[in-house]
Formats: sequence, C-alpha cells, structure tokens
Amino acid sequence: MHNSYRECFAARGSGAEGAALSAMAAELFGDDEAPIASGAANDGGRPEFDCAHFMQGLDAVAAVEESIESGNRFAVAFIDVRMPPGIDGKETAKRIRALDPDINLVIVTGYSDFSPLDISRAAGPADKIFYIAKPFQAEEVIQTASALGERWRIDLELKAARQALAGKIDELEEQKLELAANESKATHMANHDSLTDAPNRLAFLRTLAEHVRDRDCFAMAMMDLDRFKIVNDTFGHLAGDELIRMVCAILQENVGDDGFVARLGGDEFAILVKCTGEDEAVMTCERLIKACSTSFKVFGHSVQGSASVGVVSVPAGTETDPIDVMRRADLALNEAKRAGRGCVRVFDETMDESIRFRRQIESGLSGAIANGELQLVFQPIVGGSTLEVVGFEALLRWNSPEYGHISPGMFIPIAEESNLIHELGDWVIDEAMRTLKEWPGQYVSVNFSPRQFRRPNFVGHVIERVQHAGISPMRFQIEITETAIFDDVERAAETLFRLRQMGFRIALDDFGTGYSSLWNIRRFALDCLKIDRSFVDGMGKERESAAIVHSIIHLGRALGMEVVAEGVETEVQLQALRVAGCSHLQGYHLARPMPEEAALELANRRFLRPVEEIDEVEEIEIQAGNGTHG
Ligand code: C2E
Ligand code: CA
Ligand code: CA
Repeated sequence: MHNSYRECFAARGSGAEGAALSAMAAELFGDDEAPIASGAANDGGRPEFDCAHFMQGLDAVAAVEESIESGNRFAVAFIDVRMPPGIDGKETAKRIRALDPDINLVIVTGYSDFSPLDISRAAGPADKIFYIAKPFQAEEVIQTASALGERWRIDLELKAARQALAGKIDELEEQKLELAANESKATHMANHDSLTDAPNRLAFLRTLAEHVRDRDCFAMAMMDLDRFKIVNDTFGHLAGDELIRMVCAILQENVGDDGFVARLGGDEFAILVKCTGEDEAVMTCERLIKACSTSFKVFGHSVQGSASVGVVSVPAGTETDPIDVMRRADLALNEAKRAGRGCVRVFDETMDESIRFRRQIESGLSGAIANGELQLVFQPIVGGSTLEVVGFEALLRWNSPEYGHISPGMFIPIAEESNLIHELGDWVIDEAMRTLKEWPGQYVSVNFSPRQFRRPNFVGHVIERVQHAGISPMRFQIEITETAIFDDVERAAETLFRLRQMGFRIALDDFGTGYSSLWNIRRFALDCLKIDRSFVDGMGKERESAAIVHSIIHLGRALGMEVVAEGVETEVQLQALRVAGCSHLQGYHLARPMPEEAALELANRRFLRPVEEIDEVEEIEIQAGNGTHG
C-alpha cells in the first residue's frame, strides 16, 4: 500500500528503478493503463511532492506535530481507515485535525467502516475531509493531492492576506481615532479662550443666538474689571493673566448650573443666565460682583478685585437680534463704568438716546473750531494774603448754534472719547498763549485731559507750540488730574519731570478726589495742588472736609508746593482759607471766569480789591511761589 503511494508521488525516474516500480504498480492496480505508466508520457505537467510515510497513526500524528513546530507543514494527509495494531484512521484524523486546522484529510477506505458523517464530526470541517475508495487509481490520488495541495497553498495565502488586511484595518481604526481626537482638539481651540479655557467670543455668540431663538427669558451681562490696567502695569502681564484666570474661575463657580461664562478678551467677560426677569438678573450680577470684590493673592501681591457690570434682560417671547443684545449690555456696562465702577447698570432705552445725543455733540463739535464757535474765558487765581492776581485758569466755552451754551463738563468727556480732544486741546493752547502775551506777568493755567497727557510725545508737542508762540514756559501752567498720572505712574513721573525741566508749571487739579497716594505725590515734579471745590464747599458743613483742606495745605507747605483752593464762593470760606494758610484762592466769590478783554484789564490792575480793603491775616506764613517758581 505504502509502496504504491510512494510510486504515485515519487519524482519520475527512468531506468530500472522506474520500471520496477511500474511493474509493482501494475500488479497492485491490476491495470495496464496504470496511471504511472501513462503519466510517464506527460511527466512535465506533474507537480512535485514532498512526502512522508508512516505505518502507524500515532507516528503520523507525531510527524504533524513536529511539522507545525518546524513550520514546514503538511498540506494533505492520506489516511487508511485500518492501521492495526495502533489507532484507527478515524482517531488519527481526529488527532491530526486537533493539531492542524488547515490540513486536508483524505480518508482511504476499502469498505465503509465509518460513515463520512462520523469522520467529519470527529475531524471536520467537512470541506477539509475527502474520501477515496480502494482500490484507487494513481491519477486519482495525484489529482487529489495536487488539487488539495494547491487549495491549501491558496488558503494559507488567503489567510495571510486576511491577517494583513485585519492589521491594516486596525491601523486605520487607530488613525481614525487619532484624527477624531485632533479634530475635537481643534474644535475646542476654536471655541475656547487659551488663557482661561473658558468659551470665547465665537462660542458666546453661538450660545447667545440659541438663547435668542429659544425665546425664554434670559439675561446677558457684560463684566469688566476695574483698573485692571494698573495691575498689569504695576505687577506685570503674568500677574494680570493670573488675575483674569482667578476671576474667570470665580465667575464660573458663581454663575449657577445653567449660567454661561465666556471671556471676550482682555479683562472683559460675557455672561448668560436664565432668569425670571430683570430683578433676578440684577441679583445674580450683584452676587458676581461681590464674589469678585475680594483680595486676590497674585504671585505674592495682594490685589483688590473690583468689577463693573452692564446687564440687559430679554423677556420671554421677545424677538430680538443677538448683536443688539450684546450692544445693549455693552452700553449698560459703559454706564456702570461712568457711574463710578464696582456696580451693576441695567440697560434702558435712554442709554441708546444718550449715545445718539453724544454722537450729535461729537459731530457738532468737529465743526466748532472752523466755525468760530469756541471761546476761552479766564478765571483769576489770586494770592491768599494780598489777593493779587498771579494767574488765570483758561476755561473753554462752546456756543453751539444748535444747542446754545454747552458746558465743558459735558462736551470735554465726549471729545475725550474721540480724537477731537487733540484738535480742541491744540486750539486751547494756542488761544491761551495768544491772550497771555498781552498780560504784564501772570501765568495761564490750561487744563489737559488724561487722553491729551497720554498722547505719544506729549512733551515735544507742547514745547513746540510754546516755542512757536515765543512765550516762556514759566508762564504756562499745565493742569492735570490724578487719573491722568496714576494710571501709569512711571511714565507720568517721567513726563512731568521733563516738562518741569523745560520750565513749565505743573498743577494737580481736583486734588483729593482721585486715587493718589501721598507717597506717590512726592515722586512727581509738581508746583501746585488744587484743592477740589467739593472740600472747600464742605468746609463749613462737615468736620472731615475742613480736616482734609487743612491736611492738603500742610502737605503742600511741607513739600514746597503752592496750594490753590478752588470754588471759593463766600467771604466766610475766603477768610477761613486765608487763616488756614492757603497760599492761593480761586472761585466765584473772588471772580467768575471772564472774557479776554476783562481778563486783560484785571491783569493790568493786578489786584482784585484795593490793598487797603484787605484784612491782614496773621497766620499767613506762606509767601513762596507767587507766580514764580524755581
Ligand atoms: P475744572 O478744571 O475743575 O475747572 C474749574 C471749574 O469750576 C470751571 O467750570 C469753573 O467755571 C468752575 N468754578 C470756578 N469757580 C467756581 C466756584 O466758586 N463755584 C463753582 N461751583 N464752580 C466754580 P467749567 O468752566 O464749567 O469747567 C468744567 C471742567 O471742564 C473743568 O473743571 C475742566 O476739567 C474742564 N475743562 C474746561 N476747560 C477745559 C479745557 O480747555 N481743556 C480741558 N481738557 N478741559 C477743560
Ligand atoms: Ca482745572
Ligand atoms: Ca478743578
């Protein structure tokens, strides 16, 4: 039996051995047309096999096991059903199958010992089990072996290809996950602020649009930190960033579960809250302001937090536009800032009207210079002891054909918000100097708003105009307020120092109402402190005002500065200030602001009252700096 297998699979040889085998085969198969003999004719088409023969099933099982270990596996096993004395063909097939799931098994059987189903069950799958009946034809065996060998090879290739494909699919799956992660990161970045990781303006607008669409009652608040710039300037931008992060965290914590906090940029936050109406919205905003009004520890510095909020509440069912909601919240925030910061302002329609009015003023003002609608009036500043006129404060007047006389207290802040202030300021400087030239020796005191003072190359600009007019800087006093210098202390100190070096007089206007620390005053090159008229007004009414007036007078004296009391409206105030030792006085009781001609006349007369009418005041010790300084 084995020999006939050998004969089937052996490479075709010629000569004696081949002939002997052919004979043997003929004997075995009992056929002249033995396949081997006939196969000899078409030898070239026959595949080559690598065969192993075993007499016993267990040996075959062991060989299969070994082949798996070595990697040189079998494609087909021909198994006789009966192999006494060892295990039978069915058992052999079963064990081989257990070792190798890919091998094709061909059961060679004489009569039916087992049904094919029996064997398939033991050594399946059915598509890898075949049957050949004995006696078999050599071609039958070879064909089966060739076909199954080929199929085995293709199956393995297919399996490998499937595996490679599965690997590729895994790889693609991984790449897909990575892409998805990158995409969600990019989306996050597009919608969040990198400093605080809070939603940004884009995300805010989207959420606001959703609120508007839903038509439920909600409120939008705009919050801005007060004097944040000072934190940045004093402690540096890193500290400023840190403060913003802390405030953002506080807002998110305090806004409630369905509240939404976004950072719009800088120190500005926008907040959305669902609410029942305006009252609840205001309460929420007040709670947020309170939460931010704490002392923050920023890199070891303690910073007092303070915030202003503008809020607009949108009742349920309102048809509105997100941009308009935002604009209204912004207007309300501006009002809150104007109202003195640290507070909430609710939007109302008048804010829109006031904006419209401001625009009208602005456009009227832009033509005022060209149309000759502006005028300067001059209010005398007098020495405390003799009431000699040492200088005049130049005050701007606008007579608008549309609105009549408008107070500078109204139009100067509007000019400040646009660039008009520079054009206006230059006109004032030139006009003041033109008038000054006629006076015998007094100085002119000109107001500069913070925006003018912070203008790039402010010093160069003023010097150029003064030189052009050909007057001495000593007769030109620059009045600035505390707000102008305390926003950027370093820069202001430098600017003032240079101005004073050039010979200009410097006065600190409205002194006592701002945020100056006494410690800082010493660093500025100042000639004069102007006590705000609210303190002079309060002198006879409350102890605190009198105490403040006295302190400022002493401070001025100690630092060698003149002190001008503004807003002297009564004889009692005049005498009290003289007794207190105030070096200079200004106010309606002494003289109202007057037109150019009247000022010139007074400048030439020099004294407000005939000298013999002035009571002597013993306490007055300060004579220094009457119109001059050095
Ligand atoms: P200010 O610098 O504090 O000017 C003094 C203001 O007090 C003037 O008001 C003056 O008329 C008023 N005043 C003077 N004496 C008395 C008094 O005894 N009692 C009372 N109740 N008021 C008195 P005015 O002219 O309406 O100016 C208001 C503000 O407008 C000024 O306050 C100043 O800040 C600003 N301003 C005026 N002219 C100019 C200017 O040319 N440039 C700039 N940048 N600001 C100006
Ligand atoms: Ca002034
Ligand atoms: Ca003033």
